[in-house]
Amino acid sequence: MKNNIDWNDYELETQAVRAGQQRGFENEHSMPIFATSSYVFESAEEANLRFTGKKAGNIYSRFTNPTVNAFEERLAFMEKGERCVAFASGMAAIMSLGMSLLKAGDHIISSRSIFGSTIVMFDNYFGKFGVTTDYVALSDLAAWEAAIKPDTKFLFVESPSNPLMELGDIKALAELAHKHDCLLVVDNVFCTPVLQKPLELGADIVVHSATKYIDGHGRCIGGAVIASDELIETAFYPYLRTCGATMSAFNAWVFLSGLETLAIRMQAHSESALKLAQWLEAQDAVSKVHYPGLESHAQHELAKRQQSHFGGVVSFELKGGKDAAWKLIDATQMLSITANLGDVKSTITHPATTTHGRLTPEVRATAGIKDGLVRVSVGLENIEDIKRDLSHGL
Ligand SMILES: *Cc1c(COP(=O)(O)O)cnc(C)c1O
Repeated sequence: MKNNIDWNDYELETQAVRAGQQRGFENEHSMPIFATSSYVFESAEEANLRFTGKKAGNIYSRFTNPTVNAFEERLAFMEKGERCVAFASGMAAIMSLGMSLLKAGDHIISSRSIFGSTIVMFDNYFGKFGVTTDYVALSDLAAWEAAIKPDTKFLFVESPSNPLMELGDIKALAELAHKHDCLLVVDNVFCTPVLQKPLELGADIVVHSATKYIDGHGRCIGGAVIASDELIETAFYPYLRTCGATMSAFNAWVFLSGLETLAIRMQAHSESALKLAQWLEAQDAVSKVHYPGLESHAQHELAKRQQSHFGGVVSFELKGGKDAAWKLIDATQMLSITANLGDVKSTITHPATTTHGRLTPEVRATAGIKDGLVRVSVGLENIEDIKRDLSHGL
């Protein structure tokens, strides 16, 4: 492998395995973990040139570390973005949107069914500094447009949504945002660049929690922002450099190997999830299955257009309400009862009493989170074993 290959000429699976790694003078084959907080300079003059940015090179691992940089470069290629900045967690990446792009008095719009901590961050923490947030229905374009104000800086979308697997039309939302001089931010955690490339569809910024599918084995916490060179250079990188929500070199090293198998894992998760969704639809105890790969999904056509596969998360409603949902969960022997997702191990969750338990019953009802709803993040176990485990409680 030469150090000067242009990975833009290669496909995603190849970028995932090889892009971003610069072979060092030991000619190592695997990317090393650079466990160093700082770097030495050849001379006082060189130190000065690096600090002023006149000469490229490492300075201090809060903002330049070769292992973290390799992860950033690889993910940027895969998302078809110009540049990436890694963060200590998905929430730290979302926090950087506020710190890098917003000031007191600004306004943002978000889809209503997003990750719970993201709502708390927008309302309690952005809100504390005078930023206001309006929430709208993900698929209602007219509602997005009606919510735009002169001070609106960005639209924030999670697609598909959790746990109901609704989709936002990223292309249409990007056009809407740009018509009103706003940016479109997409949280691409559920799809990863393997299934969906928001920047190609017109979005300006992608945020990630690497904790989920990118790691894929439930080991490390991390996040990332991918955007244009200009946005990273003027907004996100200076924020990271100063405020320091930095990804550790060890975590970046774990995520690099996660990226290497991401494409085959996402395909396998998606294939099993589709089989599970079809099987669940045929069960008497189940009243509704939410999965974009099903013909019965209201946005199946959009899902086919916008995504290359339908993803690994399936949710479904049991006729027997909360009692039936808890009974089903407790009757499983193999599935992990945990709110995490994107793992090689299948996980099962009751959203109404866990991830969405802090919401009032009324807000939950508006969000469509019924008491009988169960969410499964379909792992890489044999699909027949997953079905058998769920059949105990059906
Ligand atoms: C988990 C998650 C986050 C937050 O990421 P952390 O790495 O846990 O901080 C943000 N968005 C979505 C969609 C997530 O699933």
